[in-house]
Amino acid sequence: MGQETCIFCKIVNGEIPSATIYEDEFCRVILDIAPMAKGHAILLVKKHYPDLFAIDPDTASGVLCAAAKVGEAMKKALSCDGINLLQNNGPAAGQTVFHLHFHLIPRWNGDGLSLGGPQGSYAEGEAAKIAEQIRSCME
Ligand code: 5GP
Ligand code: ZN
Repeated sequence: MGQETCIFCKIVNGEIPSATIYEDEFCRVILDIAPMAKGHAILLVKKHYPDLFAIDPDTASGVLCAAAKVGEAMKKALSCDGINLLQNNGPAAGQTVFHLHFHLIPRWNGDGLSLGGPQGSYAEGEAAKIAEQIRSCME
């Protein structure tokens, strides 16, 4: 999707209204329109990156600091016990809007919300092999 038609670019630019919680030079943080929990926020990176893989170091640093700042405020405001910071890349991972964003999902003890837990296990030597495969593709 091009930037001209990107819904998150329009929200970032203020062309489409949103329930904004926070804004700085790197991001705008808004409430998700279809929340997984009340207070579920999405941090929209201001630059149009389709996913995480093209992010620049300044933006990466800026948005992580912003996520921490907003997360602290969410804990106070919502009296939540924890927060999931999630980020989906590609349809296989559940990404539906192809403009880089991070989910901040408030969690309460025993809320029952399922984001998928630990599953499966590795056979003997398999973890070392997969780790080596990934390491060998790093530049
Ligand atoms: P993804 O699945 O791509 O990681 O997440 C996209 C998120 O954006 C979804 O949780 C969806 O509810 C949210 N979303 C999509 N369109 C809009 C919109 O127009 N406004 C707001 N506030 N959230 C949106
Ligand atoms: Zn965009």
